[in-house]
Amino acid sequence: MPRTKKVGATGRYGARYGKGVKKRIIAIEKKQKVKHKCPECLKNGLKRISPGIWTCPKCGLKVAGKAYEPGTK
Ligand SMILES: [Zn+2]
Repeated sequence: MPRTKKVGATGRYGARYGKGVKKRIIAIEKKQKVKHKCPECLKNGLKRISPGIWTCPKCGLKVAGKAYEPGTK
């Protein structure tokens, strides 16, 4: 059985990423879990349908934003 180091939640990304990259992945995943507010109907629940494009399931608004967070600030 191969010896594997435990690296927490990022272990599934394997060893091909360095430590700094793992930190960035953790930060991105935290952002993805945060709910974003729709600028139109002000409901929390914007969904990222593709990198940079967010949509609101309540009113159907599409928001262009950064890859991992909508540009609604
Ligand atoms: Zn909305």
